Amino acid sequence: MTVSRAPSGHHGAVARRKFRKTNTDRCVADLVAAIGADRVRADGASRLLASTDASIFVGGHAGPVCFPESTAQVQACVRVAAAHRRPVVARGAGSGLTGGAAPLGSAVVVSTTRMNQILEVDVDNRVAWVEPGVINLDLSNHLEDLGLHFAPDPSSQQVCTIGGNVANNSGGPHCLAYGVTSAHVLAIEVVLSDGEVVMLGGLDAEPGGYDLRGAFVGSEGMLGIATRVAVRLTRNPRSIRTLLLSFGDVESAAETVGAVIASGLVPAAIEMMDKRCVAAVEDFVHAGYPRDAEAVLLVEVDGLPGGVELQAQRVEEIANRFGADVRVASDPEERALWWKGRKSAFGAIARIKPDYYLHDTVVPRSKLVEVLRSIYEIIDRHGLLVLNVFHAGDGNLHPIIAYDSREPGVSEKVREAGREIIEVSLAAGGVLSGEHGIGVEKRDFMPLMFSDSDLDHQARLRAAFDELCVMNPGKVLPSPHSCSDIASLNDAGEDLWG
Ligand SMILES: Cc1cc2nc3c(=O)[nH]c(=O)nc-3n(C[C@H](O)[C@H](O)[C@H](O)COP(=O)(O)OP(=O)(O)OC[C@H]3O[C@@H](n4cnc5c(N)ncnc54)[C@H](O)[C@@H]3O)c2cc1C
Repeated sequence: MTVSRAPSGHHGAVARRKFRKTNTDRCVADLVAAIGADRVRADGASRLLASTDASIFVGGHAGPVCFPESTAQVQACVRVAAAHRRPVVARGAGSGLTGGAAPLGSAVVVSTTRMNQILEVDVDNRVAWVEPGVINLDLSNHLEDLGLHFAPDPSSQQVCTIGGNVANNSGGPHCLAYGVTSAHVLAIEVVLSDGEVVMLGGLDAEPGGYDLRGAFVGSEGMLGIATRVAVRLTRNPRSIRTLLLSFGDVESAAETVGAVIASGLVPAAIEMMDKRCVAAVEDFVHAGYPRDAEAVLLVEVDGLPGGVELQAQRVEEIANRFGADVRVASDPEERALWWKGRKSAFGAIARIKPDYYLHDTVVPRSKLVEVLRSIYEIIDRHGLLVLNVFHAGDGNLHPIIAYDSREPGVSEKVREAGREIIEVSLAAGGVLSGEHGIGVEKRDFMPLMFSDSDLDHQARLRAAFDELCVMNPGKVLPSPHSCSDIASLNDAGEDLWG
């Protein structure tokens, strides 16, 4: 590889900028030569669109954006980036909530949106091979007539990609019983930072060697780019009962969650919404939720018909003990409407305030009530507005702070409240993220949860995959454990590509 060196200090910033610009033009030209002009965009609008995700992080700067259509083209992009000593950031739909896909260091962006084919469905073995840009819901819709689906169902499933799900180990309402993405991925074809292609995991029940597939799931684009994924398919349940439980206070709802799980039941889903969230959803989609309840639980049980009836009765008995008003969805349309309400909750918030900061911590179920109380206290103290909607069954909290960033000082308050929510969650024995990942948002909180030694070992695992420190640098691992100098990555974030 030929590596040219940037002018040293005495040439000053202007000379360095010019040098980088020339290098950038060469990089774009090499990408075009490698994968074709119609698959590379270097205009300002394309780069701006690829510079952020759905989070509130705004510090990303994309270099050229590549739209490969095959594994070989992904390899070519990675090799050109390496030759120009540029980082590479994989990008799915950009629906991530932690800045994970927001490029640092003016990286080459590899978008998977044109790698969106469902390559093979093996019904007998319940496995599908898909490209990483397949949209989560498209896969389940494709499988509908076969009586199968892909179980992880993030609320963003209408837009998010399987590659993004794998990289973030995404969850969803129905992951309580079925498990998150890692339980549904068998094998992953990956392009490494030097352009080599490897297959992690396999279709055998016990693939040999270390579980590198397991290491890759949840690695947030830092170990390589997934170019094909073998996913496990789940049979659609024979019978489903959906219950809407309304409570006079949040505590009773939270205690019901604990009591249901303690009874030995594992419903397919237990989702909770507080009063403000219910009001926002009702105003938006008219889901039929009770506006007078302080909190509602959406509980779903599924399986064989007889067992489902028994489970639903048991949930109802427990909820009654905590003073709930119980409704059971009368038909598939009512069930669909209730779920539409839950999955539209984030969109509904846009009617209240133009901005929101969606949190994602996990606390032990036994601490739900205590932590929720603390969250309301933090929010009140900062004079902010919070709506709670979350996967209550696994203690995965999603407080949404709704705000208007145009109001002076409010963004600082939102960040401060966010920090305090993380701290109370960790103090209660929780963890930093249930499903959205770490990205940039929680990178600097990692030392609150991991020791220096833990972080060093994570960095060594990363280095085993990405010796060149090319793949999505500056994410997850804080300084000094990151393989890159985070400060200089951020400096390089000035727009060098214009
Ligand atoms: C309204 C809303 C609701 C949401 N609800 C949920 C929810 O219920 N559960 C949940 O888990 N998340 C949820 N999310 C977060 C987000 O949708 C998920 O994290 C999703 O999996 C991201 O997929 P994506 O295709 O948008 O990935 P992106 O945002 O494009 O990327 C996310 C990360 O994956 C990496 N990546 C993408 N593709 C690849 C690839 N092929 N190879 C390697 N790395 C790759 C990126 O570099 C980045 O680090 C929600 C987001 C929104 C906006």
